[in-house]
Amino acid sequence: MNESGRNIRPGGERNYLGVAVPRPRVAFLELTSCEGCQLQILNREAGLFDFLDLVEIADFREVMTERSEDYEIAFVEGCISRDDEVERLRSARERASQLVAFGSCACFGGVNQLVNRIGGHGRAGKVVYGDFPVDARGVSEPVSSFVQVDLFIYGCPVRKEEVEKIVTDLVLGRPVVYPSYPLCMECKAEENICLFDLGEPCLGPVTMAGCGAWCPGNRVGCWGCRGPARDANMEQLFAVMERHGFPADMVMERLECFGGFNRYLDRGSTGTG
Ligand code: SF4
Ligand code: SF4
Ligand code: SF4
Repeated sequence: MNESGRNIRPGGERNYLGVAVPRPRVAFLELTSCEGCQLQILNREAGLFDFLDLVEIADFREVMTERSEDYEIAFVEGCISRDDEVERLRSARERASQLVAFGSCACFGGVNQLVNRIGGHGRAGKVVYGDFPVDARGVSEPVSSFVQVDLFIYGCPVRKEEVEKIVTDLVLGRPVVYPSYPLCMECKAEENICLFDLGEPCLGPVTMAGCGAWCPGNRVGCWGCRGPARDANMEQLFAVMERHGFPADMVMERLECFGGFNRYLDRGSTGTG
Protein backbone atom coordinates (compact mmCIF):
# COMPACT_ATOMS: atom_id res chain seq x y z
CA MET A 1 0.00 0.00 0.00
CA ASN A 2 1.43 3.39 -0.89
CA GLU A 3 0.94 6.79 0.79
CA SER A 4 -2.25 7.56 -1.09
CA GLY A 5 -3.82 4.26 -0.02
CA ARG A 6 -3.68 2.54 -3.39
CA ASN A 7 -2.23 -0.85 -4.12
CA ILE A 8 0.46 -0.74 -6.75
CA ARG A 9 1.35 -4.01 -8.34
CA PRO A 10 4.47 -4.37 -10.44
CA GLY A 11 3.83 -5.03 -14.09
CA GLY A 12 2.29 -1.78 -15.27
CA GLU A 13 -1.05 -1.98 -13.49
CA ARG A 14 -2.53 -0.87 -10.18
CA ASN A 15 -5.64 -1.69 -8.29
CA TYR A 16 -8.02 1.13 -7.41
CA LEU A 17 -11.24 0.29 -5.54
CA GLY A 18 -10.89 -3.26 -6.77
CA VAL A 19 -10.62 -2.26 -10.42
CA ALA A 20 -7.43 -2.82 -12.38
CA VAL A 21 -6.21 0.50 -13.79
CA PRO A 22 -3.34 0.62 -16.27
CA ARG A 23 -0.21 2.38 -15.20
CA PRO A 24 1.32 3.48 -18.48
CA ARG A 25 5.04 3.71 -19.03
CA VAL A 26 5.90 7.30 -19.91
CA ALA A 27 8.97 9.06 -21.25
CA PHE A 28 9.88 12.74 -21.03
CA LEU A 29 12.03 13.73 -23.98
CA GLU A 30 13.52 17.09 -24.80
CA LEU A 31 14.30 18.73 -28.12
CA THR A 32 15.25 22.43 -28.39
CA SER A 33 13.96 23.83 -25.12
CA CYS A 34 14.98 25.25 -21.76
CA GLU A 35 13.65 22.08 -20.05
CA GLY A 36 11.51 24.30 -17.83
CA CYS A 37 8.38 22.33 -18.64
CA GLN A 38 9.93 19.10 -17.39
CA LEU A 39 11.04 20.96 -14.29
CA GLN A 40 7.42 21.91 -13.61
CA ILE A 41 6.62 18.24 -13.03
CA LEU A 42 9.18 18.15 -10.25
CA ASN A 43 8.37 21.56 -8.79
CA ARG A 44 5.19 20.82 -6.89
CA GLU A 45 6.46 18.26 -4.43
CA ALA A 46 3.07 17.91 -2.72
CA GLY A 47 1.60 16.15 -5.76
CA LEU A 48 4.72 14.38 -7.02
CA PHE A 49 4.06 11.03 -5.35
CA ASP A 50 0.50 10.95 -6.64
CA PHE A 51 1.81 11.68 -10.13
CA LEU A 52 4.38 8.90 -9.88
CA ASP A 53 1.62 6.64 -8.61
CA LEU A 54 -0.27 7.27 -11.81
CA VAL A 55 2.48 6.38 -14.28
CA GLU A 56 5.66 4.38 -14.55
CA ILE A 57 8.62 6.46 -15.63
CA ALA A 58 10.66 4.89 -18.43
CA ASP A 59 12.82 7.89 -19.29
CA PHE A 60 13.15 11.24 -17.53
CA ARG A 61 16.68 12.56 -17.84
CA GLU A 62 16.21 15.37 -15.32
CA VAL A 63 15.51 12.93 -12.49
CA MET A 64 17.02 9.53 -13.21
CA THR A 65 19.94 7.90 -14.96
CA GLU A 66 18.15 4.68 -16.01
CA ARG A 67 16.64 4.99 -19.46
CA SER A 68 14.35 2.72 -21.38
CA GLU A 69 12.86 3.02 -24.85
CA ASP A 70 9.90 0.89 -23.86
CA TYR A 71 7.09 3.39 -23.24
CA GLU A 72 3.48 4.07 -24.22
CA ILE A 73 3.24 7.83 -23.74
CA ALA A 74 5.95 10.24 -24.92
CA PHE A 75 5.88 13.77 -23.53
CA VAL A 76 7.95 15.71 -26.03
CA GLU A 77 9.26 19.05 -24.84
CA GLY A 78 10.85 21.52 -27.23
CA CYS A 79 10.75 22.25 -30.93
CA ILE A 80 12.76 21.06 -33.90
CA SER A 81 15.75 23.21 -34.71
CA ARG A 82 18.35 20.56 -35.66
CA ASP A 83 18.25 17.66 -38.12
CA ASP A 84 19.15 15.01 -35.50
CA GLU A 85 16.08 16.07 -33.51
CA VAL A 86 13.84 15.03 -36.39
CA GLU A 87 15.20 11.48 -36.15
CA ARG A 88 14.74 11.37 -32.37
CA LEU A 89 11.20 12.67 -32.70
CA ARG A 90 10.28 10.11 -35.37
CA SER A 91 11.75 7.33 -33.27
CA ALA A 92 9.63 8.46 -30.27
CA ARG A 93 6.56 8.54 -32.52
CA GLU A 94 7.19 4.94 -33.58
CA ARG A 95 7.52 3.73 -30.01
CA ALA A 96 4.68 5.65 -28.33
CA SER A 97 0.98 5.01 -28.77
CA GLN A 98 0.36 8.57 -27.52
CA LEU A 99 2.66 11.45 -28.35
CA VAL A 100 2.06 14.61 -26.34
CA ALA A 101 3.42 18.03 -27.41
CA PHE A 102 4.50 19.27 -24.02
CA GLY A 103 4.71 23.04 -23.62
CA SER A 104 4.64 25.95 -26.03
CA CYS A 105 7.99 25.13 -27.68
CA ALA A 106 6.62 21.73 -28.74
CA CYS A 107 3.13 23.04 -29.57
CA PHE A 108 4.05 26.20 -31.49
CA GLY A 109 7.84 26.52 -31.64
CA GLY A 110 7.75 28.74 -28.54
CA VAL A 111 10.28 31.48 -28.04
CA ASN A 112 12.64 29.57 -30.35
CA GLN A 113 10.46 30.26 -33.37
CA LEU A 114 11.35 33.95 -33.12
CA VAL A 115 14.38 32.95 -35.19
CA ASN A 116 12.00 32.34 -38.12
CA ARG A 117 10.53 35.80 -37.77
CA ILE A 118 13.93 37.48 -37.89
CA GLY A 119 15.01 35.37 -40.88
CA GLY A 120 17.50 32.94 -39.34
CA HIS A 121 20.38 33.30 -36.91
CA GLY A 122 22.07 36.10 -38.85
CA ARG A 123 23.64 38.75 -36.70
CA ALA A 124 22.24 37.31 -33.46
CA GLY A 125 23.93 33.97 -34.24
CA LYS A 126 27.20 35.77 -34.84
CA VAL A 127 26.93 37.59 -31.51
CA VAL A 128 26.01 34.43 -29.55
CA TYR A 129 28.21 31.81 -31.24
CA GLY A 130 30.99 33.85 -32.84
CA ASP A 131 33.00 31.60 -35.17
CA PHE A 132 31.93 28.33 -33.54
CA PRO A 133 30.21 25.94 -35.94
CA VAL A 134 26.42 25.94 -35.52
CA ASP A 135 24.47 22.86 -36.61
CA ALA A 136 21.04 24.44 -36.07
CA ARG A 137 18.79 24.65 -39.13
CA GLY A 138 18.10 28.38 -38.81
CA VAL A 139 14.37 27.71 -38.47
CA SER A 140 12.47 26.31 -35.50
CA GLU A 141 9.28 24.32 -35.99
CA PRO A 142 6.67 22.68 -33.77
CA VAL A 143 6.68 18.90 -33.49
CA SER A 144 3.38 18.67 -35.40
CA SER A 145 5.27 19.77 -38.54
CA PHE A 146 7.01 16.36 -38.53
CA VAL A 147 4.84 13.78 -36.75
CA GLN A 148 1.25 13.28 -35.75
CA VAL A 149 0.54 14.70 -32.29
CA ASP A 150 -2.18 13.11 -30.15
CA LEU A 151 -2.40 15.75 -27.48
CA PHE A 152 -1.19 19.28 -26.81
CA ILE A 153 -0.37 20.65 -23.37
CA TYR A 154 0.07 24.39 -23.66
CA GLY A 155 2.04 26.93 -21.66
CA CYS A 156 5.52 28.33 -21.16
CA PRO A 157 5.96 26.58 -18.89
CA VAL A 158 3.14 24.07 -18.65
CA ARG A 159 1.12 24.29 -15.46
CA LYS A 160 1.63 21.25 -13.32
CA GLU A 161 -1.95 21.04 -12.04
CA GLU A 162 -3.16 20.93 -15.63
CA VAL A 163 -0.60 18.27 -16.57
CA GLU A 164 -1.73 16.10 -13.65
CA LYS A 165 -5.36 16.44 -14.70
CA ILE A 166 -4.62 15.65 -18.33
CA VAL A 167 -2.47 12.63 -17.42
CA THR A 168 -5.26 11.38 -15.12
CA ASP A 169 -7.73 11.75 -18.01
CA LEU A 170 -5.37 9.86 -20.30
CA VAL A 171 -4.85 7.01 -17.84
CA LEU A 172 -8.57 6.65 -17.13
CA GLY A 173 -9.46 6.95 -20.82
CA ARG A 174 -11.47 10.14 -20.33
CA PRO A 175 -11.55 12.78 -23.07
CA VAL A 176 -9.24 15.72 -22.50
CA VAL A 177 -11.22 18.95 -22.53
CA TYR A 178 -9.56 22.31 -23.10
CA PRO A 179 -11.11 25.57 -21.85
CA SER A 180 -13.27 27.06 -24.58
CA TYR A 181 -13.12 30.56 -23.10
CA PRO A 182 -10.38 33.21 -22.98
CA LEU A 183 -8.09 34.00 -20.10
CA CYS A 184 -10.13 37.05 -19.04
CA MET A 185 -12.83 34.69 -17.74
CA GLU A 186 -10.37 33.01 -15.39
CA CYS A 187 -8.86 36.34 -14.44
CA LYS A 188 -12.27 37.68 -13.44
CA ALA A 189 -13.02 34.51 -11.47
CA GLU A 190 -9.75 35.12 -9.57
CA GLU A 191 -11.02 38.66 -8.83
CA ASN A 192 -7.88 40.28 -10.22
CA ILE A 193 -7.93 43.96 -11.05
CA CYS A 194 -7.78 44.24 -14.84
CA LEU A 195 -4.32 45.33 -15.88
CA PHE A 196 -5.72 47.64 -18.54
CA ASP A 197 -7.11 49.68 -15.63
CA LEU A 198 -3.60 49.81 -14.19
CA GLY A 199 -2.05 50.96 -17.47
CA GLU A 200 -0.60 47.59 -18.57
CA PRO A 201 -1.19 45.77 -21.88
CA CYS A 202 -2.50 42.21 -21.75
CA LEU A 203 -3.39 39.47 -24.28
CA GLY A 204 -5.98 37.95 -21.94
CA PRO A 205 -8.95 38.71 -24.23
CA VAL A 206 -7.62 36.43 -27.01
CA THR A 207 -5.58 33.82 -25.10
CA MET A 208 -6.80 30.34 -24.18
CA ALA A 209 -7.57 30.02 -20.47
CA GLY A 210 -6.17 27.23 -18.32
CA CYS A 211 -3.22 28.77 -16.50
CA GLY A 212 -5.41 30.32 -13.79
CA ALA A 213 -4.46 33.82 -15.04
CA TRP A 214 -0.97 33.19 -13.74
CA CYS A 215 0.61 36.44 -15.00
CA PRO A 216 -2.23 38.92 -14.36
CA GLY A 217 -2.52 37.42 -10.87
CA ASN A 218 1.07 38.59 -10.38
CA ARG A 219 0.42 42.00 -11.96
CA VAL A 220 2.06 41.06 -15.28
CA GLY A 221 0.14 41.29 -18.54
CA CYS A 222 -0.41 38.07 -20.49
CA TRP A 223 1.92 37.38 -23.45
CA GLY A 224 -0.24 34.60 -24.86
CA CYS A 225 2.01 31.62 -24.15
CA ARG A 226 -0.95 29.21 -24.33
CA GLY A 227 -1.95 30.36 -27.79
CA PRO A 228 -5.30 31.62 -29.02
CA ALA A 229 -8.66 31.07 -27.38
CA ARG A 230 -11.42 29.62 -29.52
CA ASP A 231 -12.87 32.32 -31.82
CA ALA A 232 -10.22 34.83 -30.73
CA ASN A 233 -11.28 38.27 -31.93
CA MET A 234 -7.97 39.78 -32.99
CA GLU A 235 -9.53 42.86 -34.47
CA GLN A 236 -11.12 43.75 -31.14
CA LEU A 237 -7.85 43.09 -29.32
CA PHE A 238 -6.08 45.70 -31.42
CA ALA A 239 -9.00 48.10 -30.93
CA VAL A 240 -8.91 47.67 -27.14
CA MET A 241 -5.13 48.03 -27.06
CA GLU A 242 -5.32 51.19 -29.14
CA ARG A 243 -8.02 52.63 -26.90
CA HIS A 244 -5.67 52.17 -23.94
CA GLY A 245 -2.77 53.78 -25.76
CA PHE A 246 -0.81 50.69 -26.79
CA PRO A 247 0.44 50.81 -30.39
CA ALA A 248 0.01 47.95 -32.86
CA ASP A 249 3.73 47.09 -32.89
CA MET A 250 3.64 46.53 -29.13
CA VAL A 251 0.72 44.13 -29.59
CA MET A 252 2.53 42.37 -32.44
CA GLU A 253 5.62 41.90 -30.30
CA ARG A 254 3.52 39.96 -27.79
CA LEU A 255 1.58 38.01 -30.38
CA GLU A 256 4.80 36.88 -32.07
CA CYS A 257 6.57 35.80 -28.91
CA PHE A 258 5.52 32.14 -28.51
CA GLY A 259 4.27 31.23 -31.99
CA GLY A 260 0.72 30.34 -30.95
CA PHE A 261 -0.78 33.24 -32.89
CA ASN A 262 1.27 32.76 -36.05
CA ARG A 263 -1.68 31.54 -38.06
CA TYR A 264 -3.34 34.91 -37.52
CA LEU A 265 -0.19 36.94 -38.13
CA ASP A 266 0.91 35.02 -41.22
CA ARG A 267 -2.37 35.44 -43.00
CA GLY A 268 -2.57 39.10 -42.02
CA SER A 269 -5.90 38.77 -40.24
CA THR A 270 -5.05 40.84 -37.20
CA GLY A 271 -7.14 43.75 -38.27
CA THR A 272 -4.13 46.03 -38.32
CA GLY A 273 -4.31 46.47 -42.05
S1 SF4 B 1 7.69 26.05 -23.31
FE1 SF4 B 1 8.84 27.58 -22.13
S2 SF4 B 1 9.35 26.56 -20.19
FE2 SF4 B 1 8.73 24.97 -21.66
S3 SF4 B 1 10.66 24.29 -22.59
FE3 SF4 B 1 9.83 25.90 -23.91
S4 SF4 B 1 10.83 27.80 -23.17
FE4 SF4 B 1 11.08 26.25 -21.58
S1 SF4 C 1 -5.84 41.63 -16.74
FE1 SF4 C 1 -5.79 40.70 -18.76
S2 SF4 C 1 -6.70 38.70 -18.46
FE2 SF4 C 1 -7.27 39.94 -16.71
S3 SF4 C 1 -9.27 40.80 -17.24
FE3 SF4 C 1 -7.71 42.29 -17.84
S4 SF4 C 1 -7.28 41.86 -19.98
FE4 SF4 C 1 -8.34 40.07 -19.15
S1 SF4 D 1 -1.16 34.63 -18.23
FE1 SF4 D 1 -0.74 34.41 -20.42
S2 SF4 D 1 1.50 34.45 -20.60
FE2 SF4 D 1 0.98 34.08 -18.44
S3 SF4 D 1 0.99 31.86 -18.20
FE3 SF4 D 1 -1.12 32.44 -18.67
S4 SF4 D 1 -1.31 32.30 -20.91
FE4 SF4 D 1 0.87 32.32 -20.41
